Amino acid sequence: MHPERRTQYLEAIGIDLWLSRNSGARPAADRAPGASAAEREPPPPALDTAARWDALRSEVLQCTRCPLHLTRTQGVLGVGPKRADWLVIGEAPGAEEDRRGEPFVGVAGQLLDAMLRAIGLDRRTNVYIANVLKSRPPGNRDPRPEEVAACLPYLVRQIALLQPKIMLAVGRIAAQNLLGTDAPLGRLRGRVHRFGELNTPLVVTYHPAYLLRTPADKRKAWEDLKFARSVYQQRAKAQ
Ligand code: URA
Repeated sequence: MHPERRTQYLEAIGIDLWLSRNSGARPAADRAPGASAAEREPPPPALDTAARWDALRSEVLQCTRCPLHLTRTQGVLGVGPKRADWLVIGEAPGAEEDRRGEPFVGVAGQLLDAMLRAIGLDRRTNVYIANVLKSRPPGNRDPRPEEVAACLPYLVRQIALLQPKIMLAVGRIAAQNLLGTDAPLGRLRGRVHRFGELNTPLVVTYHPAYLLRTPADKRKAWEDLKFARSVYQQRAKAQ
């Protein structure tokens, strides 16, 4: 990524100075972490994988596993290429996502897109975005444990199909539910967790909606993003 564009991205998420703009050094941020995977011309997925995705999508659209189906407009499975190395996981669809059927398309989604672009990620090419809950809780209240229990198997199937190289949990709800802990978000940041049978590295950061309310923490979120990018790069190098 051109340094000027990166600067624009960082400014877009409200972070104005991370690296000396006069240093002339080409920072690691210039390398899009998912680019190599995205630039490869991937072969079409095997039919059974495609069929499994189709089945998952239609199950989510028709899901009645919890009472949220009574108030939602539609189930929201996720968005992004099915061969993305990166998987970002949020909490649950909000009003806009419920209406449009795509995660993170409201104001928080715009900030998330800017954050991801700052490390070279884009939902159209190299990052898949999903939520813990596939249906919107009314009034955007926190998900209830029984709703999470009913919905999590969908996410687990999604992860098994995607086999991401790294997962980024945004926000307390996603982080706690994925890691099975009550620990506060501040204690979950800054280290590599592991998820599932494939021991997928998982990094935790703030939810963009929280960052909109608490812009002072955007700097910490940027540290998290750089940390996640370095974890990804190390993993890519080792393989
Ligand atoms: N917040 C989330 O956690 N997910 C969305 O899809 C939108 C807002």
